[in-house]
Amino acid sequence: MDARLEAIRDTVLARNPGEAEFHQAVVEVFESLGPVHDRHPEFLDAAILERLCEPERQIIFRVPWTDDAGRVRINRGFRVEFNSALGPYKGGLRFHPSVYLGIVKFLGFEQIFKNALTGMPIGGGKGGSDFDPRGRSDAEVMRFCQSFMTELYRHIGEYTDVPAGDIGVGAREIGYLFGQYKRITNRYESGVLTGKGISWGGSLVRPEATGFGTVIFTQEMLKTRGTSFDGQRVVVSGSGNVAINAIAKAQSLGATVVACSDSSGYIMDEAGIDVGLLREVKEVERGRLKDYAVRRPGVSYVDGGSVWDVDATVALPCATQNELDGGAAARLVRGGLLAVGEGANMPSTRDAVAVFQEAGVLFGPGKAANAGGVATSALEMQQNASRDSWSFEHTEERLTDIMVGIHHRCAATADEYGEPGNYVLGANIGGFVKVAEAMLAQGLI
Ligand code: GLU
Repeated sequence: MDARLEAIRDTVLARNPGEAEFHQAVVEVFESLGPVHDRHPEFLDAAILERLCEPERQIIFRVPWTDDAGRVRINRGFRVEFNSALGPYKGGLRFHPSVYLGIVKFLGFEQIFKNALTGMPIGGGKGGSDFDPRGRSDAEVMRFCQSFMTELYRHIGEYTDVPAGDIGVGAREIGYLFGQYKRITNRYESGVLTGKGISWGGSLVRPEATGFGTVIFTQEMLKTRGTSFDGQRVVVSGSGNVAINAIAKAQSLGATVVACSDSSGYIMDEAGIDVGLLREVKEVERGRLKDYAVRRPGVSYVDGGSVWDVDATVALPCATQNELDGGAAARLVRGGLLAVGEGANMPSTRDAVAVFQEAGVLFGPGKAANAGGVATSALEMQQNASRDSWSFEHTEERLTDIMVGIHHRCAATADEYGEPGNYVLGANIGGFVKVAEAMLAQGLI
């Protein structure tokens, strides 16, 4: 790492003790930024990096609610409003027992650069709670969401901060959150949340957008090697919204997706995953992948195994952070891997990224490859602001243009800095320069 940046990094790490995921995200970005500071010493003079690493505002709050047995439960709520140089804070809410400040800050930090790369006018933020929706009734989830919004509402707004979904927060949760916001404020402010239902201010393609976008970005990477998804053998991790839509899109482009996973194990389906059945099991029944295996002949379920043990030419990690380590990466490379597109946020460890890059595997980092979700959220905001709703085709075309544009920006930036094909460098520098220039123009903020 550049010596000037090392000192700044050490201060940031020391100021934020115990936040391992935030440290990881910061270090990865800093490793790309040396050459930018050679060209732009004004960024150093203005302490842009020190400012970028300190969120503009961090809100932590108590979320009390009652379970179905009438027992009082307490969770912790978070919203980190990280950077508003390019627009209102924008980013999802994650409900998962692992959520703590370090996770929210890593996600918020990544979101700043991701959102900048989309070319849309959105700043970076993230939030969530250590609430675990798994096994909770609809009524419990509703009471939790209502309590969460009873505090959050005062901090958000169409021009201030626009949350959306992430792990554990889908259309059901956004519905309960929006209903409570509307009730407290007495305003039908559609643009305050994205990921809404289509009949009440949502956008077509938003549910599909992250998974679709990851595949579109990966397809652009494959094109640089004169190939495409057609005929590829694909492994996807996860089986939530991002994974399911990545599987659907990859298969529509001629690939065969032979495996996907949940936190208990993975399924092997050599014929190619049946997306209809997968949606039924996961989205309608809120069930587990082993239920899919029971219902489809020829499918095996590997209890407790790692999906990265399956050979593939394309890997799409769509589950969660640090799910793919150096050992798994080396195994995938030995199995003939050509490309990785990250549908999740920071799913590959730093060791894994190094293994992929050393082996010459095309590697699309999450902040570029999974930006289709938040980009389509920005399209939802556009539709809300103009009280309009667009067709599926038009919205998908916009998403495709945005993803092709992000690929182009990352590739061109990597070329410009003398590292062709390094999408990590391209994404980090491309996103950073845009935010840094805006911060410089806006004075000491
Ligand atoms: N949670 C998603 C992400 O990681 C989407 C955020 C949004 O739509 O605001 O980018």
